[in-house]
Amino acid sequence: MQIDSVEKHFGENHVLRGVSTEVAKGDIVALVGRSGSGKSTLLRCVNGLETIGAGRIVVDGVDVHAPSTDLASLRQRVGMVFQSFNLFPHLSVSANVTLAPVLTKKITRDEAPALAKRMLERVGLGQKLNAMPSQLSGGQQQRVAIARALAMSPQLMLFDEATSALDPELVGEVLRVMEDLARDGMTMMVVTHEMAFARRVASEVLFMNQGRIWERGTPDRMFGDPQTPEFQQFVQSVV
Ligand code: ATP
Ligand code: MG
Repeated sequence: MQIDSVEKHFGENHVLRGVSTEVAKGDIVALVGRSGSGKSTLLRCVNGLETIGAGRIVVDGVDVHAPSTDLASLRQRVGMVFQSFNLFPHLSVSANVTLAPVLTKKITRDEAPALAKRMLERVGLGQKLNAMPSQLSGGQQQRVAIARALAMSPQLMLFDEATSALDPELVGEVLRVMEDLARDGMTMMVVTHEMAFARRVASEVLFMNQGRIWERGTPDRMFGDPQTPEFQQFVQSVV
């Protein structure tokens, strides 16, 4: 995936200012930075939820913002997990997981139970196939949301503060699932406040500040030897 010189305005607000980076297959990129620095906006541009003013984003050979691009089919290849899990409350856990693959005819209805089982086992919820979302903890619901994204066989997974809405004791189980995915070779862009996770799992850390990638590097270099005053201050404020 390539992000080339991306610019984004919301009215007068210049939110992304020449953002460029490359994410190779299997890379785990952690996006960190203060509130309002543009992290969520950048992720939303990657799967075409936001337009861009200039530059280019290419995912899996597809120019996301080209007028000819079929965004629905692009989003089938890019999984996104948000802070709020937004499961369908009236559908069972397994129906939540297989709804999109069935609707997009990626699988037949007959194949749905086996796919649900496989995906839910992958996030440690093989026992909860028939549960309703309301019967699950927040951490379990977020793991279902991850299973739901995985069910579309994405080439790339985007996580935007996937653990921020969870009670502290539930954060670990979701991070473990994300770490398993990383170990399995999934390409991931992860906005997170969990610096220990970023340090342990990321292949590269991007510090965003004022709409720019202000500092970037390996986790060990970034957290062991932060260079810019802005990132030094950020690191001090979060650890
Ligand atoms: P946080 O850590 O709080 O989630 P962030 O780094 O994800 O912050 P963004 O949500 O990308 O930041 O916001 C970047 C800037 O863009 C902010 O100034 C925000 O107010 C603005 N912004 C984001 N979304 C919109 C929108 N839909 N309309 C107008 N302005 C927006
Ligand atoms: Mg955000």
